[in-house]
Amino acid sequence: MTATIIDGKAFAARVREQVAEHVKRLKTDHGIKPGLAVVLVGEDPASQVYVRSKGKMTVEVGMNSVEHKLDADTSEADLLSLIDQLNNDPEIHGILVQLPLPKHLDEDLVINSVAPEKDVDGFHISNVGLLGTGQKSMVPCTPLGCLMMLRDHHGSLSGMDAVVIGRSNIVGKPMAQLLLGDSCTVTIAHSRTKDLADVVRRADIVVAAVGRPEMVPGDWIKPGATVIDVGINRIERDGKNKLVGDADFDSCAAVAGAITPVPGGVGPMTIACLLANTVTACCRANGLAEPEGLTA
Ligand code: NAD
Repeated sequence: MTATIIDGKAFAARVREQVAEHVKRLKTDHGIKPGLAVVLVGEDPASQVYVRSKGKMTVEVGMNSVEHKLDADTSEADLLSLIDQLNNDPEIHGILVQLPLPKHLDEDLVINSVAPEKDVDGFHISNVGLLGTGQKSMVPCTPLGCLMMLRDHHGSLSGMDAVVIGRSNIVGKPMAQLLLGDSCTVTIAHSRTKDLADVVRRADIVVAAVGRPEMVPGDWIKPGATVIDVGINRIERDGKNKLVGDADFDSCAAVAGAITPVPGGVGPMTIACLLANTVTACCRANGLAEPEGLTA
């Protein structure tokens, strides 16, 4: 079997188009322009790249993009004061604090100081609780992007066996909640899971979110299963720098029914879902209908 390649790049472009259409309607019908504020503390090179590309795409879909770049030694009080100011700014509908934060800042405290309705990352404890209890929430972008691709590929996910490898608050746990919400039978595997290969072999859907290059080989995959590869790992191969996922692409693609590539799979969907969450937050803030198909 040769797997269908789920093209996250093309899917993300469609999501951004939908967002742009909705943004246009918000402007023409209601005179509202959604705004996303991104806060970056310090000079982590990877974070700088992410923030730049988030800002560029925010503007491309017609929204306001505001960037706050703070020094690495910014005090917690100053950061919280900026977040408070953004929480109270009616022109800002989404706030994202780029993680990781420098060590002297309490990440949980900072995340939980963002107003839950503007928390477009979906990391605030209120949104975590709302998602866990099946209520309307802001949904973390990466798992939301994975869910959109799975729904698009399968239609209904009801009754499918899903294994999520990784239990982080950012990907693994919310992914499992979303799959449960779509009536999958969900297993969360992690570093202490026994017989991971056997656990994965049972799955109709495998979401790999570990951060270990090519750790899932094809012989762990049930024939015809769908593999969603969240991992982004930079490796040296044949003297070249290469990005690979957590799944060994060639051997998995030979067995799976469908697979997301790295790059070009989950990655582009993450930013598209950030834009989708911002337009959703803007609609909710103004008591307007939310765009369809852009949230869980
Ligand atoms: P994390 O380090 O917070 O969590 C990794 C998880 O993997 C942990 O829960 C751990 O228990 C589990 N794990 C570690 N070793 C394991 C093993 N041998 N077997 C089974 N499980 C094991 O990472 P994260 O933030 O969830 O990110 C995971 C990966 O996804 C990383 O490569 C990251 O770069 C990538 N990522 C990609 C996107 C995207 O947009 N595509 C977004 C977020 C994260």
